[in-house]
Formats: sequence, C-alpha cells, structure tokens
Amino acid sequence: MAGVAIVLTVASGPLARISGGEVVAFLPSIYAVAIFAELLTAFLLWNQYRASGHPPIAVLALAYVGAALIATEYILAFPHAFAEHFLGAGPQSAIWLYLIGHVFFTTYIVLFALWEPLCRRLPTFAKGNGVPMLTVITVLVPLIALIVTVGYADELPIAIVGRHVTALWSRTAIPALLCYQVLACAILIGVTRLRTAVHLWLTVILTVSFSEVVVSNLISGSRFTLGWYLGRAESLLAASVFLVVLFGSVYRILLTLTSTNATLYRQSVSDELTGLLNRRGFNARLEEELRRAQRRGEAVAFLVIDIDDFKRYNDSYGHPAGDAALGIVARVVKTTLRRAADCAARIGGEEFAVLLPETDRAGAAAVAQRIRRGVERVGILQGAGARHGVLTVSIGVASTEERAAQDGLDLMRRSDRALYQAKSEGRNCIHVEGAPRLHPGESSLAV
Ligand code: GH3
Ligand code: MG
Ligand code: MG
Repeated sequence: MAGVAIVLTVASGPLARISGGEVVAFLPSIYAVAIFAELLTAFLLWNQYRASGHPPIAVLALAYVGAALIATEYILAFPHAFAEHFLGAGPQSAIWLYLIGHVFFTTYIVLFALWEPLCRRLPTFAKGNGVPMLTVITVLVPLIALIVTVGYADELPIAIVGRHVTALWSRTAIPALLCYQVLACAILIGVTRLRTAVHLWLTVILTVSFSEVVVSNLISGSRFTLGWYLGRAESLLAASVFLVVLFGSVYRILLTLTSTNATLYRQSVSDELTGLLNRRGFNARLEEELRRAQRRGEAVAFLVIDIDDFKRYNDSYGHPAGDAALGIVARVVKTTLRRAADCAARIGGEEFAVLLPETDRAGAAAVAQRIRRGVERVGILQGAGARHGVLTVSIGVASTEERAAQDGLDLMRRSDRALYQAKSEGRNCIHVEGAPRLHPGESSLAV
C-alpha cells in the first residue's frame, strides 16, 4: 500500500499541476469520511486499551482523536467549504491547520513508539499514569491551534496566495515537515523493530502521509490541481487504513471467541472419560425434554444405570482398568440407544442415566434390558469374590406414564428408588417403578 502511494505520487508528476477545477464540495465529503474513520479508529483503540490495560494503545487512540479534531477545524476553516470565512478565519487558517494536524499525528506516533519502552522501564507508565495528562494535551492542542489559526489569522506567516503556496511553504515548512516524518518513521522502526502488525501498519500510514504531503504541496504547489486532489485521496487512505486493519483483527478475535466459547460449552456439559453428557448437561436436557413432553402430553422415561460390585473390580484390577471399563459400559449404553432424541449421561462415578422421550414403560424396560444384556455380553471379567463372573449393571426405570413428574429431580429420585430395588433383587437386573418385586436376574416387566 505504501508502495502504491509512492508510485502514484511519483507518476503523477507531469499531471500534478493541471487544474482540476474548483470543486469545493469535494473537500467536506472526503474529510467527513476521514474524520469518521479516525473517530471510529480512536473508539476501537480506546476500548482495546481498556480491555488490555496496555497504555501505548491509549496514546495511539489519542493520536486519532487529536487528528480528527484538527481535521474538523481544517475543513471548517477552508475558504468556502462551509462558510465564506468560518468564525472570521483568514485564507491562511486552513493551510496552517493542515501543517499542525500532520505535526500532531506524527508526534503522537513517535510518543506511541517511545511509550512501550517507557512502560517496560518505569512501572508508573505501565500502570497508565501519563495517559490522563496526554488526554488533556490532546484536547488542548486542537483548541490552541484553532485560537491561533482562526483568531490570529492575519498575523500568520503568508503560506498561500490565492491557490498557490508561497516559497515559505514549499521551501521551508513542507521540507521541515517531511524531515520530521522521516525522523518519526526511523524512530518507529528503530524502537519497535516492527515487531507487531500495528508497528508495520503505522509505518505504512506514515509513508502514505509522506506521499500525500509531497504530491499535494511540492509536486502540485497549488490548490485544486490534480496533484492536490490525489493528495486528498491519499490523506483519506492514511486516515482510514488503520480502521480496516482494526476491523480485520476484531473479526478474527470474534471468530476465535466464538469457537472457544463453543469448545468451552461442549467441555462444560460433557464427561471427559466417556464422552457422554455430564450431570450439568444432562440436567439441562432433562428439564427441556420434560417441559416439551408436558406440552405435548407425551411420556418420558428415565433410566439410572449402576455398575454392580464396581469397587471390587477396581480393587482387583486397579483404577485405570476401572476407567477403561467405564468407557466400555458407556459405549454399550450409547450404541444401544437408537433414536436421535434419546440421550445418555454419566451422572456419577459408576452411574449413568438415560433419558427416553416419547417412550412408555414397556419401551423403556426394553431399552434397559438391551443395555443390561449388552454389558453382560461384552464379558468384562470381574474380580474374585464378585457376585457375577463378568461386569454387570443394575437399572432402575421410571416413567411419566406411570405418574407425572414434578420436575427432573423427581423423576431422577424415582428411578434411583427403582435402582435400589434392582440392587436388592440381586443385581444384573432391571426394576421398573411400580412393577412387582421379582426374582434376581428377571425383568420386572415382560420384555
Ligand atoms: P454396587 O453393586 O452396590 O453398586 O457396588 P459398587 O461397588 O459398585 O458400589 P459402591 O458405591 O460401593 O462403589 C462404587 C465404586 O465405583 C467406588 C469406586 O471404586 C468406583 N468408582 C467410582 N468412580 C470411579 C471412576 O471414575 N473411575 C473408576 N475407575 N472407579 C470409580
Ligand atoms: Mg453407585
Ligand atoms: Mg455400583
């Protein structure tokens, strides 16, 4: 971008002095966009400063605030742009405000570059001290500039006569400004070593601004020439490029935040060991399904599954083997569920829960039996002294078909009671709430 600005500036040489016609309205429109872009840039930077607490960002935000204020004064003071003479501004007012604006912005870029090492060396700067003072200066400079250039317009050195700049302007003021911009660029590169994209873009902005000063003052030397118009376009580019960069970075941050948020949410509702929902995720789902079932007048069934004699298994084979067995049981539970709306969770150490929307007692008992048989069939060898040779589960079943549930907790308590029954009936069996007590190994509903 800096290269394009320089090439355009150099290439414009032969055409730069051709008159482009006095389109005074061009200036307010292009400056309105530039000022809006600068204020928006300042706003985003200031918020970034508040979020990060990194004071150099505040300096950069203030650079844009001051630049926008002085640019507003420039456009108001420019003859015939808004009024013939704004507040009695003379023909010199706008051109000196132009110079002050450039010096101000360049100075603040230097301050920005120096503020970072200052923060590293002096803790007081790192805490943000100095920023309030600089804020006051940022407001005072445009105010004083306005008073001097408008209030004392007649006493200012003559920089422009009619449309043409004077020798004082083209041989002294502008070369001095250009030297200052080169010096600022050198300080920026030297101090920051262009470590971040912000440093790089500020160098680009200074280069575009340098090209603009050259083409609109030295190559053209007169207002309303093609070079002068090109300069205004370049000044708009210099004022708005950082905004585009900031929007790009804000958009990237937004994308990262959205995906991090989704990952965090997934992690907060899922069980790491088995990949099933955890208790928190399950509770939310349970309440949601219960409300939906109540609205539609449908039954919801609930299973609580507990591994039998799991303490013994752990004692025999160790905790890591126990964890692996939990994973296998979870897989059996998951693969047994066939409907998309069915949902399984690990709600405790070796306890699982299954929610079956639109399912009656008989259906729920069938699913429970499939799970029980599935675990048994896997044939995970139990430790010595266990009731069964292989790892088994007991399952308690409750359903809103039997009795309406006040809430999820109520349904969970009822399934827990049914599970307790299954345990007392000898384990490796299921017990359906409200069904008669059965012999060990039998199902309390014929399925
Ligand atoms: P019951 O048939 O009455 O359910 O007997 P149990 O031994 O399964 O029941 P108890 O509540 O006495 O013990 C549960 C055991 O489950 C305790 C612990 O060794 C094991 N356990 C709980 N959470 C985990 C876990 O995350 N990993 C492993 N490996 N074991 C666990
Ligand atoms: Mg248990
Ligand atoms: Mg158990």
